[in-house]
Amino acid sequence: AKEIHQILDEYPIVNPIQLEHWSWIAGYYMCSLGEVFRSAVPSAFLLESETLIIGNERAVFDENSLLDDDFLVVEALQNQSVLKVQDISAIVDKKNVLPILHRLLEKNIIVLKEEIYEQYRPKMVRYVRLGNDYSSEENLAVLLDSLSRAPKQRQVVLSLFQLQGGNSKPIKVSDLEKSSSSSSAVIKVLVEKGILEEYFIQTDRVVYEGEKGNLGAIQLNGFQEMALKDINHGFEEGKTVLLHGVTSSGKTEVYVKLLEACIQSGKQGLYLLPEIALTTQLIGRLQSYFGEKVSVYHSKYNIQERVEVWNNVLVQKPKAQIVIGARSALFLPFSNLGLIIVDEEHEGSFKQYDPAPRYHARDSAVVLGKLHQSPVVLGSATPSIESFYNAQTGKYGYASIARRYGNVLMPDIELVDIKEQTRKKRMQGHFSERLREEITEALGNGEQVILFQNRRGYAPIVECTTCGHSPQCPNCDVSLTYHQFKKQLRCHYCGHQKLLQENCEACGSFTLDTKGFGTEQVEQELHTLFSKAKVGRMDLDTTRKKHGYEKIITAFEQQELDILVGTQMLTKGLDFRNVGLVGIMNADSLLNFPDFRAHERSFQLLTQVAGRAGRTEKRGKVLIQTYNPYHQILKQVSTNDYEGMFREQLYEREQYHYPPVVKIIKITLKHKDFNKVNDAATWFGQSMRGYFKDNVLGPEFPPVSRIRNQYLKNILLKIPSNQSLIKTKNCIGKIERSFNAISQYKGVRLIYNVDYI
Ligand code: ADP
Ligand code: ZN
Ligand code: ZN
Repeated sequence: AKEIHQILDEYPIVNPIQLEHWSWIAGYYMCSLGEVFRSAVPSAFLLESETLIIGNERAVFDENSLLDDDFLVVEALQNQSVLKVQDISAIVDKKNVLPILHRLLEKNIIVLKEEIYEQYRPKMVRYVRLGNDYSSEENLAVLLDSLSRAPKQRQVVLSLFQLQGGNSKPIKVSDLEKSSSSSSAVIKVLVEKGILEEYFIQTDRVVYEGEKGNLGAIQLNGFQEMALKDINHGFEEGKTVLLHGVTSSGKTEVYVKLLEACIQSGKQGLYLLPEIALTTQLIGRLQSYFGEKVSVYHSKYNIQERVEVWNNVLVQKPKAQIVIGARSALFLPFSNLGLIIVDEEHEGSFKQYDPAPRYHARDSAVVLGKLHQSPVVLGSATPSIESFYNAQTGKYGYASIARRYGNVLMPDIELVDIKEQTRKKRMQGHFSERLREEITEALGNGEQVILFQNRRGYAPIVECTTCGHSPQCPNCDVSLTYHQFKKQLRCHYCGHQKLLQENCEACGSFTLDTKGFGTEQVEQELHTLFSKAKVGRMDLDTTRKKHGYEKIITAFEQQELDILVGTQMLTKGLDFRNVGLVGIMNADSLLNFPDFRAHERSFQLLTQVAGRAGRTEKRGKVLIQTYNPYHQILKQVSTNDYEGMFREQLYEREQYHYPPVVKIIKITLKHKDFNKVNDAATWFGQSMRGYFKDNVLGPEFPPVSRIRNQYLKNILLKIPSNQSLIKTKNCIGKIERSFNAISQYKGVRLIYNVDYI
């Protein structure tokens, strides 16, 4: 027998329900179980400075999720492909690059060449206290005397005595250092002399300034009570329930009541939100009810922090009874779930785009609920067509709240015709006369204003008026966006950036102009039009830093800002009390987006942004600027006609065979050689037609057909509801095997996206 070297885990870190759930995800979303594992389990490896890092082949990833330093590293890896940790340190000019590497590892953008597995180490904090011999005042006096030649040591001893307050409790070394204004070296000497005793105490990495729980404070109104009843009724029938409540109807309060019942029965509750809705606002609200019973699982947490939450859920610590998190919280080791809430269930960001598993967190949550025999509630003011359809067909239960809480009226929505305003010369920059009037009035009343433009940067296109040339990304098939603040052109797909020259790079003329506009330009125009107003901007560029997002929200909340300009980040889960006016700068780019979900999305986005207006007694005002004021969707938004929108969209989806009446699998072929992708896609498309006939669309190039020097071509497969999903996937598997055997297509990547969004 050999000696036990190390005990890996006190408890198994993955339980049987998780395994079953992950297998389902792998099967349904057509990826390997390993890919699900990699995404699910935080990689709590400790990197050591000798570790080699190698760049992965991953060409497409969510640029939005990268911080500036991460970009630098990714860029360096594109030229170098293998880097040492020290090299990376030099590139970003930082000593500690581990957080960067952890982030990139998590996203599978880099991989480790040599891995050093280490147990996740709990965080140990150093404490000291006076040795037992010195606890009485007399002995202390003797000690202080003996230290009269070492004033610094004497000071430490005195401070420690005061901090201990006459008893023997250990004090944090960092606190002692502060109060005695001395260095750790002095403390170390005292420990070595045996005057101080040293302790290491394990502490939590994630600390909340949480308030004490204050349940019972909520009194639901009649509409909320009705909804709660309907939800519970649906649960009794074993159904997932859709909670359809208009913006500011108080859905959160209904969730709180459900969570309360859940934890009273001794079970765990999971509250899923899209990443951007995970604000301190909402977390604070939940903590004010549940106090320390709430844990948060956030992608901005580092790996150690996430492991801590993981372990707390695993051993069912009381502080992890309710977990609120973004989609990855679905993978936590719950053994005893009693409720899953998916809030803002219509949000596309619940679907993971890259890397695999390309799972939908909402749909996976419904499956997880089944495995735990736990009820699931999906909530939204603007449900996805899929979920509303499921409610209509009786697959899901349905509950609704049609009124805002506290007799607050739905905002008054007005459409402004930009074409007419231009003809009458009433536009100033991108502001119509009506919008300027309303802003003036709101500011005059001391109200705040939100302006929405779904594009960041200054302008999406720079164009030479002499020769028509416009700068393109060298790696992607898109125009570079102009960011005025840094006078830069940037690619929003790969992060490529360069300075804007003053003259055209093709013909040399000094005749550059911009086309289209983003949040930066709106902000700049505001400085001219409303020079006294304090303007803030909330988009990816201003929120990249860890607390950037919170800072802007807090500033607006505390009315340090009068006007907030932003992208769709503005729409989610924010509850501002003093917003009198919401302006939508241009609704058309949303409506014209080339996708079958464009109209549904526009309705959702516009309704959600509009919902930020007038959350108190005074009715809020919303202005939507558009070239197309007769557009059906805009009418439906302005009359809050969700069901009209639903009926019309469903009719179209039935006519043209799109979800929810069929399922769609998108197959993307990808390679850096254009011809290779093209030929391979043709072959694949033809083989698919052999099995699936007219249900195959494409192959087609997507609107941006080259990203990071990789060409992309898509094939869509529509699967009618009477066709077996398993058989379908088996057929695709067969085609894939033949495909892999063809040597000329070697290296072409196949990406499956089931239920693509
Ligand atoms: P939703 O999530 O449906 O948009 P919220 O839950 O944010 O709506 O509620 C809107 C506002 O109304 C919040 O400020 C909330 O505190 C308040 N509110 C809703 N229901 C109640 C209630 N039962 N008691 C007290 N305040 C409530
Ligand atoms: Zn030119
Ligand atoms: Zn690019």
